[in-house]
Amino acid sequence: ERTDYITFCQSIMDRFEMSKKQNIEFVRQFPKGSFYVLIDRDKLTQVIDNIISNAIKYSPEGGIITFAIRRRGNKIRSMISDQGVGIPKENLPKIFNRFYRVDRARSRKLGGTGLGLAIAKEMVEAQGGEIWAESDWNRGTTIHFILPLDRRDS
Ligand code: ATP
Ligand code: MG
Repeated sequence: ERTDYITFCQSIMDRFEMSKKQNIEFVRQFPKGSFYVLIDRDKLTQVIDNIISNAIKYSPEGGIITFAIRRRGNKIRSMISDQGVGIPKENLPKIFNRFYRVDRARSRKLGGTGLGLAIAKEMVEAQGGEIWAESDWNRGTTIHFILPLDRRDS
């Protein structure tokens, strides 16, 4: 479905603001204007929900979660950053594998199956995009993903 990406992300973030329980601050760094993408909205909602849920799950009290969007040529890039526990460098490539979880003990306490990011990767790639993670142990994590803009727009 042809979708205005900024409006789409605003409504996802509005929903997270409404249901926020922890002491967490959400910051949006969205460009002005409209950027159209051809996406399956339900699937992309699931992708972003998982990334933000992870960010919340691994954030400290009072942590800031930043959702930044930038246009680069005929692509749109999204970056979701947290100030949480982070992921050690050697584990970073594996977090997109099915059932992979960095710290089994910690993960068990926090719940989940380890499928969220594997599904996110599948869905982003099915829509012609790319996804990857960047992280500093104990400082935080950023998940990046890129989607192609609808050609009718560029
Ligand atoms: P599910 O998403 O199925 O509920 P999950 O959140 O454990 O379970 P994924 O979303 O696939 O699974 O994430 C895989 C693992 O990557 C997590 O268990 C966690 O160890 C690590 N991880 C993901 N996001 C973050 C983050 N923002 N900060 C720290 N670790 C993370
Ligand atoms: Mg998850």
